[in-house]
Amino acid sequence: MTTPRADRMPKEAAMYPSPQNHPAYLWWQGRQVAWDEATVHVTSLGWTGISAVFEGIRAYWNAEQQRLHVFAIDAHLKRLAQSMKLVRMTSPYSSDEIKQAAIKLLRDNELQEDSYIFPLAYFPSGIPGYLAVYEQPGEVMMTTRPRESSMLTGRALHCNISSWRRISDNTMPPRAKMTTNYQNSRFVSTEASINGYDTAIILNDQGKVAESPYACVFIVRDGVAYTPPVTAGVLESITRDIVMQILQEELGVPCRERDVDRTEMYIADEAFLCGTFAEITPIASVDRYTLGSGSAGPITSRLEQLFHDVVRGRDDRYSELRTIV
Ligand code: PMP
Repeated sequence: MTTPRADRMPKEAAMYPSPQNHPAYLWWQGRQVAWDEATVHVTSLGWTGISAVFEGIRAYWNAEQQRLHVFAIDAHLKRLAQSMKLVRMTSPYSSDEIKQAAIKLLRDNELQEDSYIFPLAYFPSGIPGYLAVYEQPGEVMMTTRPRESSMLTGRALHCNISSWRRISDNTMPPRAKMTTNYQNSRFVSTEASINGYDTAIILNDQGKVAESPYACVFIVRDGVAYTPPVTAGVLESITRDIVMQILQEELGVPCRERDVDRTEMYIADEAFLCGTFAEITPIASVDRYTLGSGSAGPITSRLEQLFHDVVRGRDDRYSELRTIV
């Protein structure tokens, strides 16, 4: 049996801010404010979560250079703008204003370690979820906090195929990074954890592989990598795009976007998750079918090493994706 995910929660929970352990500043209502001054009334709980959209962006500390590299921030802020458009929210701030605010926040919070940037856009008036909104202005809150990378630690996940189905474009579009979509993810993660798995693979309405609760999925069969298309009920992942490029252009691994069947997960030579939080996470087994040797396969290992070097600024390639703080 693998360790239930719940056992790992304290470590992960420790990465979230608490009254004893939080950064000095966050960004809210267009300016940097002291953490303790950023408060709202308790009655704003609830409907402000409906239509809220967000991003998760990583920054990697390069110890040799003594500086942080923020990874793919422009792509993340472009997706944030698209998510806001989908929920018919207008932004009082441009993407560049949010980007500059993020960089200043990392600097002023004196982050000299791997970090995570979390911008959240929401309707501050707390419009009830059953009422219409149209081109209404949102508000943006953004935090930064330390978040260690898990790359090159030898981890590999045991997954199940979830009994839950992925939300779909005509119900709750996974393409928009809405907080409400993560109730679907939570059902999936909780079921996986209770049953002793690390996480799960979710099938879409058509019964094809979609993604995991927090990351996209790739399998490798006979030297070719496959990942479900963006129309399969997945978030349009930024990491997924970069991984496809690295696989093909740097590692010479052909990569195809096509439907993936559940049983292909069982017989794949290798499989891995990818995403900002997941980075590159090898999959050891699916529904207790062991993949390869039950640890990171050769293509996944090469990808993880190169991805690690690129995001941390140890490899010069893809410099256009790194913003130096
Ligand atoms: N799918 C889901 C459901 C996610 O939450 C994430 C993480 N943002 C991803 C995929 C990966 O997306 P990205 O590479 O842009 O972080």
